[in-house]
Amino acid sequence: MLVDSHCHLDFPEIADQLDAVLQLMRENQVERALCVSVTLEDFPRVRRLAETYPHIHASVGVHPDYEKVDAVSVEELLALADSPRIVAIGETGLDYFRLTGDLEWQRERFRTHIRAARECGKPLIIHTRAAAEDTLRIMREEGADKAGGVMHCFTESAEVAKAAMDLGFYISFSGIVTFKNARDIKAVATAVPLENMLVETDSPYLAPVPYRGRTNQPGYVKHVAEEIGRLKGVPFDQVCSITTKNFFNLFNSIKG
Ligand SMILES: [Zn+2]
Ligand SMILES: [Zn+2]
Repeated sequence: MLVDSHCHLDFPEIADQLDAVLQLMRENQVERALCVSVTLEDFPRVRRLAETYPHIHASVGVHPDYEKVDAVSVEELLALADSPRIVAIGETGLDYFRLTGDLEWQRERFRTHIRAARECGKPLIIHTRAAAEDTLRIMREEGADKAGGVMHCFTESAEVAKAAMDLGFYISFSGIVTFKNARDIKAVATAVPLENMLVETDSPYLAPVPYRGRTNQPGYVKHVAEEIGRLKGVPFDQVCSITTKNFFNLFNSIKG
């Protein structure tokens, strides 16, 4: 059994192929998928998926790349998270790669999400890109370790992974780890213990080899787990069982 810890099944690239997507999940024994919210506008679609399918779960949050949306409050996040189908807060974090200029609003939004996660006791899904130092600083300042969570689609250094693991966070690897030129990420995945690791697709983007460039889907998380096994010299089954156990351990409101 395998799980996809991070996907966007509500995105238009994939939403109209849901039957085929669910079918491939069954074929590849991907028994759970966590569908992650990026704006409050899209959240009702994400929630509906989690309410319709018992093996799809949802999070609530506003992604750091969405600049032109209303500010979100702790109270709003808590109200929307108040459901057993909503198992995490995010995705949230910092992205200095996509956006530049004065990004104080991004840091404030990130702080709001950490405060909400601490308040409701649900873990954080953190996106960080070209902003590792500020991400870790804000995680420490806001006590993110008290909520716990995952650094998703990890592309930072082994040192950043270590710092996040020291705060009790899991490190999640996506299809990028299968790309031939992704030597640095392969090295980080080799260094991070399986006990601290999750796997994800971030679909519909970042399809792993051999589907690179195509529309990604949760069934393809199998190829991420296979590559991790190759890199670490560990059997595929063991990668599946440990990352799945980690998933249920982190998102502990989901019954395994
Ligand atoms: Zn992300
Ligand atoms: Zn995402």
